[in-house]
Amino acid sequence: MKAIRVHAFGEPEVMVLEDVAGLEPASGQVLLRVEAAGVNPLDAYIRSGRFGMLPSLPYTPGRDAAGLVERVGEGVLGVKPGDRVYVGGSLSGTYSERALCEERQIGRLPESISYAQGAGIFIPYATAYRALFQKARALPSERVFIHGGSGAVGLAAIQLATAAGCRVAASAGTEEGRKLAREQGAERVVDHRSEAHGEEVREWAQGEGVAVVLEMLANVNLSQDLDLLAVGGRVMVIGSRGSVEIDPRAILSREACVLGVSLFRASDKEMASIRAALEAGLADGMLRPIVREELPLEQAPLAHRRAMEPGALGKIVLIP
Ligand code: NAP
Repeated sequence: MKAIRVHAFGEPEVMVLEDVAGLEPASGQVLLRVEAAGVNPLDAYIRSGRFGMLPSLPYTPGRDAAGLVERVGEGVLGVKPGDRVYVGGSLSGTYSERALCEERQIGRLPESISYAQGAGIFIPYATAYRALFQKARALPSERVFIHGGSGAVGLAAIQLATAAGCRVAASAGTEEGRKLAREQGAERVVDHRSEAHGEEVREWAQGEGVAVVLEMLANVNLSQDLDLLAVGGRVMVIGSRGSVEIDPRAILSREACVLGVSLFRASDKEMASIRAALEAGLADGMLRPIVREELPLEQAPLAHRRAMEPGALGKIVLIP
């Protein structure tokens, strides 16, 4: 079978398509025929070697995918060959024609969701759900500002927050990104490249401030986010690519809090709760993953370059 392999960390071109040995599911494992693999910024950080936890070399990148169950190991009861599924995590990497997974990494894919959309479910939606509900404890009618609403996590968060009855504003760096965020339910959209965008969010919040900020680029925005908060407001740091200076008085005076969000810190119980919420949201059509572009598997280097460029519009997926 064909799979993308990385033999040394570095630029996107370290990802090469190779023939590798087939995979057999052991007890409790599922063999997936990958129809689409999702590209996440995390895949690019790992490939570059600039991430805290690195796999041993060589490895096959990718955590998200969707496809068909091909074979199951002993003791697997929840899925059977031929089932349409999506996966969040795998044992062998998902940029491949086949991926080996544990049964707990698998979710059912409704007929209404394509494989390409299915490859954009797990990391974006699970992260958005964890940030909004497990960490920020966002409530219906609260104002939520999604700072980075055109990307995969941001769009997932817009859908989840509006479905929960929150009032949502979102930012994007392009006109298409703002249009997409508006279509997905944001009642106010702003341009995070404009100096005036904080003032526009404050105006939207009508002097009360926003209850929750989901922040995709904290090293740029954290200081300003604190000034947007209502009393008791919460900033969720989801993404950051550097350091930032803040004035702690902005936190103190509002009894606000800044919380980090890491999907990998979710306990088994929290993860089971996230999976159940996503399954329900997918089944009733509330969650609709947005696919920006489908590229052939061998174009993984191009996919990583695009994924790290500005102008996000949802998920890039690789098709084996
Ligand atoms: P993505 O699809 O590439 O989206 C990136 C988003 O960041 C886009 O909406 C982009 O907007 C926006 N952005 C760019 N410049 C910005 C700025 N100055 N201010 C605010 N937003 C800005 O990536 P993603 O998959 O949604 O992930 C978003 C971030 O969360 C990444 O850093 C990722 O590594 C991180 N993440 C963390 C976790 C976790 O567990 N903590 C899990 C998943 C992802 P434009 O392109 O329109 O400018």
